[in-house]
This record gives sequence, C-alpha cells and structure tokens, in this order.
Amino acid sequence: MNKNITVLSGDGIGPEIIAEAVKVLGRVGEKFGHSFAYTYVDIGGCSIDKYGVPITPEGMEKCLSADSVLLGAVGGPKWDIVPQSIRPEKALLAVRKELGLFANLRPTKLFPMLASASPLKESIVGNGIDLLIVRELTGGVYFGRHTTEEVDGETVATDIMSYSRHEIERIGRVAFETATKRRKKLASVDKANVLDTSRLWRSVMHSLAEEYPQVEYCDILVDNAAMQLVKNPGQFDVIVTENMFGDILSDEASMLTGSIGMMPSASLSSGTLGMYEPIHGSAPDIAGQDIANPLGTILSAAMMLRYSFDMAAEADAIESAVDTVLNRGFRTADIFTPDCEKVSCSAMGSLVAELI
Ligand code: NAD
Repeated sequence: MNKNITVLSGDGIGPEIIAEAVKVLGRVGEKFGHSFAYTYVDIGGCSIDKYGVPITPEGMEKCLSADSVLLGAVGGPKWDIVPQSIRPEKALLAVRKELGLFANLRPTKLFPMLASASPLKESIVGNGIDLLIVRELTGGVYFGRHTTEEVDGETVATDIMSYSRHEIERIGRVAFETATKRRKKLASVDKANVLDTSRLWRSVMHSLAEEYPQVEYCDILVDNAAMQLVKNPGQFDVIVTENMFGDILSDEASMLTGSIGMMPSASLSSGTLGMYEPIHGSAPDIAGQDIANPLGTILSAAMMLRYSFDMAAEADAIESAVDTVLNRGFRTADIFTPDCEKVSCSAMGSLVAELI
C-alpha cells in the first residue's frame, strides 16, 4: 500500500520523538512492502515564529488531504506570552475541528516489567493493565453555551451540557467496534442517576448493545468508575464515556502506569482519517538532549497503522517489538531503574526498528 502521512513534529522534544516513529515506520514499510510518504508541516511555536500563526491554511490543507496525521507535541515557555488567539494549542483544536475528530482513543497499558513505576501496589497491577478509554471529543459541556451574568445582585456562571442521539450513537459505535477487536468487554460510564444527557447516553448505548451481542456490556456511574480504576483496573477492557468524564478518567488512567512517555493516543473521524500523538507535551526541560522516551510516539504510529490503514499485523509487529525491547531491559531515562540499561531516544527508536 502507498500512504501519505502529514507529520506535525511541533516543538520541544516533538522533532526528536517523531524522528524515531518515522524510523520505525520505515522499517515496517520495508518488511511488509508498504510505501509511506511524509509531508512535514510546521505547527505550534515553530509555526508562530515563522508565519505568525500556529498553523497556516496551507498546512491545514495538507492535514485534510493526507491519509493520516502524526503529531509530536506543541508549546513551550517561549510562546506562553503570545496572544490567546494564536497560542500553540489553538492549532491542535483547529486541526481536531477541521478533521472532524470526534473520538479520542487512549490506551493505558502497564507493561508488567514496568509495574514498579506505577503508583499502585504490585498486588493490584502486578498482572499489568491493558485498558482503552474511548472519549467523545466534540460535544458535551465543553462545547455548550458558557455565560456569566448578574442575577439579583449576584454573579452566576452557567455551562450548558448537551448531547444529541447521533453524537452518542457515533461514539458508541466506535467503542463497540473497538471492543470487538480487543477482549470484547465494554463499560459505558455516565451519571444517569442525575443527568438527562446521561439517561439519553445510556438508552442509546443499550440499543447498540443489542447489535453487538458478542460484546459483554455494562453501565457504570462515573464516581464508581473513578474508584474502580484504582481499586481494580484489570477488570476493564474498553471504557466509553462523554467528553468531560473522559478528560478526567483518561488522565487518571494514564497515571496508573507512572510513565507519561509511554502513552499513545488516536483521534478519529467518521472516515479513516485520524490524528495520532503521544499524550504528553513538548517537555521543554529535556528538549534537544536525545533523552526523551519515544515509545508513546512509536506506539501512536502503531495505532495509526491499526485504525487508519487497517494494518493489524504491522501494528502488532511494532507493539511486540516494544515489548521485547523492554523485556530485554532497555530503558530511556524516564523509566530507568538501576538493574536496566539506559539508552538515548534515538537508540531506543533503533532498537525497536531492528526488531520489526
Ligand atoms: P509535558 O508532558 O511536556 O512534561 C511533563 C513532564 O514529563 C516533564 O518533566 C517532561 O520532561 C516529562 N516528559 C514528557 N514527555 C516525556 C517523554 N516522552 N520522555 C521523557 N519525559 C517526558 O507537560 P508540561 O511540562 O506541562 O508542558 C510542556 C509544554 O507542552 C507546555 O507548553 C504545554 O502547553 C505543552 N503541552 C502540549 C501538549 C500537546 O502538544 N498535545 C500536551 C500537553 C502539554
């Protein structure tokens, strides 16, 4: 297959970690007979420096016309003082909106050999964690009407949370489809004992559950979900939830692994176009030193192969190469323990690529 990938390296460690993901993709191409073509577009601070905006219209066009988009990270102290309207993160929101990315997939995987990095006890995470949160990304209270007004001499702020049936159904379908490709378990998180949006959410999910009898489905209230994630994270396979609950729960879940540099993510549209990125930021404190952990970006590239290009075997090859490299004791500085061998960002990328 021939695939066109628009690459948004961004700022800080972005170019370093992206270079390693591209190195690994190159090896996948050789091994499996695919050709990946890359178009590099400036985003975030580096684009503000060159063009005065965090992404140019031409750059956005290149994202829209690609088969997929791979992102490093944006931002840094240098651009903290730029006007709100051109802040580096504005480019990310714009790309999500233009590409219609309504589903955010965040896997949380604790590799058993990294269990000591987790803030949870070995007795809870000793068998590893392997769950995936499907978060609705373009609806709910973050996109509702926000007002602050004076009412009877007092300041009152209001944020409106709304969801339509079609918004719930499309994210629900992504979640059920994702569960069928994994361990076939889905937990839908809501607050149906209080919120109307959650009652609609739950009824739509129940209708979908009838279409997917092979998926073991359950409802769980968000407060209980937050508790269960730390009490027994191993019980979860796929979790689906609305925008704000997903924002909070996915950060909670990612911390269970204790290593932000390892976590990939995908944002999907209704077609095959998606944007793939590690969950961490541009880490300006370690930029330019070749010590960042590139595995979150490399695993994001694996998600791109799986979800946008339907290349499951190729994605498996990357994920199992990462497993093997960790099992052999190689670690970047952020996950290093004294019994392991410390390697640079570029060496880690080469080790994974060699094992494809
Ligand atoms: P951060 O995720 O960049 O860094 C937090 C800590 O984790 C730092 O100590 C950093 O060194 C470490 N870290 C992060 N990624 C790592 C990796 N791959 N390997 C090793 N260590 C890693 O968060 P921050 O410091 O709050 O933000 C820095 C900048 O990134 C800010 O400008 C912020 O706005 C931006 N940001 C961008 C994104 C994005 O592009 N999606 C997301 C979050 C933050």
